[in-house]
Amino acid sequence: MIVQIDPLLAEAIQRAAGVSYPHECCGLLTGEKSGNNVIITGVHQSENVTSGDPTRGFEVDPKLRFDLMRMVESLGDGTEIIGHYHSHPDHPAEPSATDLSMAYETDFIWLICASSKVGGGNIGAFRPKSDRSDFETLELSIEQII
Ligand SMILES: [Zn+2]
Repeated sequence: MIVQIDPLLAEAIQRAAGVSYPHECCGLLTGEKSGNNVIITGVHQSENVTSGDPTRGFEVDPKLRFDLMRMVESLGDGTEIIGHYHSHPDHPAEPSATDLSMAYETDFIWLICASSKVGGGNIGAFRPKSDRSDFETLELSIEQII
């Protein structure tokens, strides 16, 4: 599976990761599935509403998800909520053990953006394996989508 994202949307995630540092940023991704590929067409920033330590975890505001579900339903053009993103302050763009414990939805795409005091860094794309034993690394293509 290849995950395609426009450079402007990738930059929006990196910017959010940098601005939120040392906290984790988070948000939802909307887009379309096309054959074996996923095209991200929207990045929707959420407040990190975790009840834990926001430098070590995240939770997307459930209201954002609700609002987006209504939005994609009203569009009716195949756009879906296809995943979410969050940042890893001072840690690599790879899923953590905490992430795996939160991976309930096996068809969700996870984008993880490294962050540091100088800003947002690399982005990685992942999907939980169907038995939720681990994440599978996906190919992320950051190219302009025509
Ligand atoms: Zn994480």
